Amino acid sequence: MRIDPRIGSILDKALSGGEISAGEAVELMKIDENSHEMYALMSAGNTLTRRQFGDTGEVYAQVGINLWPCHRSCAFCFFGEDWNLIRSPGELSPDEVVLRVKAFEEAGANGIFLMTTADYPFERFIEIGRAVREAVSPRMPLAANIGDFTAEQARQLVDAGFQGVYHVFRLREGRDTRVDPEVRLRTFRTIRDSGLALLSCVEPIGPEHSPEEVVEAMFRGREFGAVNFAAMWRVPVPGTPLAAKGKISEVSLAKAVAVTRLVFGDTIRSMGVHEPRVLGMRAGANSIAAEAGPNPRDTAEDTAKGIGYSVEACRNLLREAGYTPLQGYTKAFQK
Ligand code: SF4
Repeated sequence: MRIDPRIGSILDKALSGGEISAGEAVELMKIDENSHEMYALMSAGNTLTRRQFGDTGEVYAQVGINLWPCHRSCAFCFFGEDWNLIRSPGELSPDEVVLRVKAFEEAGANGIFLMTTADYPFERFIEIGRAVREAVSPRMPLAANIGDFTAEQARQLVDAGFQGVYHVFRLREGRDTRVDPEVRLRTFRTIRDSGLALLSCVEPIGPEHSPEEVVEAMFRGREFGAVNFAAMWRVPVPGTPLAAKGKISEVSLAKAVAVTRLVFGDTIRSMGVHEPRVLGMRAGANSIAAEAGPNPRDTAEDTAKGIGYSVEACRNLLREAGYTPLQGYTKAFQK
């Protein structure tokens, strides 16, 4: 079987440890999804991951803390104040957060994320973080998924026991969101200069995003030294403005995973796909996430009863994709 020699040479370069350029990544993103080249691309992503991580797959688990209208009103988010979708605002108490995190730990999660809306009080988040830190194994890595923050707040996160932060410059940030892109970038610089590891993602990918936009997000993550990077599709949450634009296919998501994997080479410690899907895990992703509590992609008050996966379901999916779920704690949340 022959594949396009130009595509073949880009894949060979990545497979032999070379860095591919943004232009080359765009060429890969434009591959016809029913072509031999598509499967060669997925194979290259899969090969890089299995060569670097063996057959080890990882499950992270995220607890959403609050269900509040958020004044940023991102055009894809269930929490957006302007979309008026939240019927009963609320938040988990520190004890409830701890209970959920402990349940995730007992189920075998390899790392924990705590998530709030962008405007959640920082001090309250730190209190919850400290309570979680005390309750779980000292070896359990913790990551914060919160709004933008300062260098002083980064120090407080480290003091409270966090090793990492999930931070993203969303596709069309500042246009589909009311987040100032400059503030977003400032937080990336803050993270780079802090003791916190950066976990990031190209998200939320919709059918309208060009290959160039998607690739730009990958390179931004690489520039800021992300230790885990993922590709995530946009879930069309009914009632949000972007829902009408629909959703990319699982194959398109797998393509974004594979290209991301090639862009990052061996600079990352794990590679993710959101939401958990086998095709993405056959294209270079070896980490997926279980979720509980409120979630911006879900209309259920507790995503564990909605679209969120349990740790057990994630571990089963890893096995289905040919991975052995990691026993113990990830080393991915390290600078
Ligand atoms: S994505 Fe984050 S910043 Fe945007 S509306 Fe939702 S909670 Fe707020």
